[in-house]
Amino acid sequence: MLSVTEIEKSFGGVRALSGASLDCAAGEIVGLIGPNGAGKSTFVNVVTGFLRPDAGRVSLGGRDIAGIGPQQVSHAGIARTFQNLRVFRDLSVRQNIEVAHLRCRQLRPDRAARVNVAALLTEFGLEDLAEQPAGSLPYGTQRWMEIARALATAPEILMLDEPAAGLNDDESARLGRAIASIRDRTGCGILVIDHDLRFINSICGRLFVMDQGRLIASGAPAEVWADPRVIEVYVGP
Ligand code: ADP
Ligand code: MG
Repeated sequence: MLSVTEIEKSFGGVRALSGASLDCAAGEIVGLIGPNGAGKSTFVNVVTGFLRPDAGRVSLGGRDIAGIGPQQVSHAGIARTFQNLRVFRDLSVRQNIEVAHLRCRQLRPDRAARVNVAALLTEFGLEDLAEQPAGSLPYGTQRWMEIARALATAPEILMLDEPAAGLNDDESARLGRAIASIRDRTGCGILVIDHDLRFINSICGRLFVMDQGRLIASGAPAEVWADPRVIEVYVGP
């Protein structure tokens, strides 16, 4: 479904990505991990069209989507959340989700027809908060709403940048169950970035490990955690 090959991206003199690759099939949950500054968010920004890669290939269902821009990537079928919350604070929870859904309906009515906003609110337990301004909700609930909003575009690939950051243990367990059930219900491929390795290990079938802009290991969690390069990055030489 999603295939990203040898992405390069520099900011001035900083090489944020120097040969980053990853793939994600429909119905698969993959983890993207690595130390701070490894390039994980930059990678998501390139794949979702917020940044144009200097080199490399991004393909979704066989179509080359590198550099086409965030709106086009969204219409092509990739949705995301951000490491730092981006919600319309003055709009209600329902409106936040409806805006995303409407945008999708204009350009991809076929996909939008698979989404029912009321059902999404119910699935996320947000019915009782639906008319509240999004900015008035606790941080964890806003993050939760962001995922519902991403799903309102009926994506084929969902990318979550540190969704468990700032959540307590109960909330992150609930998030893990929600991610698995989203995958089961929609069949979309999901990429999760997080620093909570227990969380990542418990939900992902495959892991990709980045360090200094490069992919240093990938595979099943047990395989990846036995890799000396991964141990060196996480534990030290
Ligand atoms: P991660 O998400 O893995 O912590 P990032 O992708 O945020 O890493 O950052 C990778 C590197 O790229 C870092 O050195 C960071 O400072 C740099 N970087 C990221 N975004 C920008 C930007 N917009 N301008 C300049 N440097 C950036
Ligand atoms: Mg990041």
